[in-house]
Amino acid sequence: MHQGRHFLQIPGPSPVPDRILRAMDMPVIDHRSAEFAALGRAVLEGSQKVFQTKGPVVIFPSSGTGAWEAAIVNTLSPGRDKVLMVETGHFATLWRQMAGRFGIEVDFMPGDWRRGADPAQIEARLAADTAHSIKAVMVVHNETSTGATSRIADIRAAIDRTSHPALLMVDTISSLGSVDYRHDEWKVDVSVSCSQKGFMLPPGLGFNAISEKARAASRTNNMPRSYFDWEEMLKPNAKGFFPYTPATNLLYGLREAIAMLLEEGLDNVFARHQRLAAATRAAVNQWGLEVLCQEPSEFSPVLTAVMMPPGHDADQFRKVVLDNFNMSLGAGLSKVAGKVFRIGHLGECNELTLLGALTGVEMGLSVAGVPHRPGGVEAAMRLLEQRDQRNASSHLKVVST
Ligand code: PLP
Repeated sequence: MHQGRHFLQIPGPSPVPDRILRAMDMPVIDHRSAEFAALGRAVLEGSQKVFQTKGPVVIFPSSGTGAWEAAIVNTLSPGRDKVLMVETGHFATLWRQMAGRFGIEVDFMPGDWRRGADPAQIEARLAADTAHSIKAVMVVHNETSTGATSRIADIRAAIDRTSHPALLMVDTISSLGSVDYRHDEWKVDVSVSCSQKGFMLPPGLGFNAISEKARAASRTNNMPRSYFDWEEMLKPNAKGFFPYTPATNLLYGLREAIAMLLEEGLDNVFARHQRLAAATRAAVNQWGLEVLCQEPSEFSPVLTAVMMPPGHDADQFRKVVLDNFNMSLGAGLSKVAGKVFRIGHLGECNELTLLGALTGVEMGLSVAGVPHRPGGVEAAMRLLEQRDQRNASSHLKVVST
């Protein structure tokens, strides 16, 4: 038996803030009513701000995997189209598998799961594809299995340099609302996301932000689809409605989540995630453990995957932390199962939540007998204090003038 709140420090689902829980605690309303239409319009328009797009965003009652499927079935044609993907980790591998199941040929560039997608490699592949047989480049922005982000702006620039007409489709499932992401500015054609990470909602909503070019592709591709058809969604969405029963109470929560993100300011949200991630890495370095991601410019602001010393099992360690300190850490997935644990620091996470989580990790390392240097929490504190002192002094200035 544990007292107090469970620490859900996995990289999504992330903890749902009380404010969002309260916003969802509402009677279900008639989804054909004017009251619903106002909610529908508010969340559809609000989502555009989070994706940083002026184009349409559709919201499916689905997990992120459903939103992946929507991106594929609306743009690609089975037995005809080829796509370029990069093996950044477990989720890129699953998206690739899904494309294959839909009859899409995948050129899957191998990776070592320790960095993001390489823009130069993508550029070289596209430059060599003079026949323009590659229909889309599909990349995972924040690879949740490894804690490495891909530099989407650089990938866009690489594609542009080749003048290749391929669509750019990006999985923003664990980055949206936590890591800077600009659908329009980076000319992304389909951005795929979901509710349970940066939006801080329970699982159950899948998102596609759609460019004009992607919508044009959806008019000529020949993949059978029904539930995930964009046009079926977009018609009623224009008036705030959905073609089938929407996840009404999650939409109440979404309205609140968008308000919270915009009140804090997206740039402040992104900076907070960067700061918490830096503090986490400071702790890991002090412990003498290794961060899985090897490329500093690609360190994830959302999660940190930590490698276990040889001879120590990450899942056993996670069990010790859960049993003793009531905290869930993320498991290593597929190739890195048992070899890494993941610390989520996204969504409703602040300095003290993070320090609590890092304290649980540090105590867990001791209890589990994992060799490490003490003082990781201390290192994180020092890093977080620096910022607090800056804020405190600027606050004093405001007060004294
Ligand atoms: N892509 C990424 C990057 C993810 O992190 C996840 C889930 O964690 C998925 C796809 C699959 O999303 P879902 O589990 O919501 O279907």
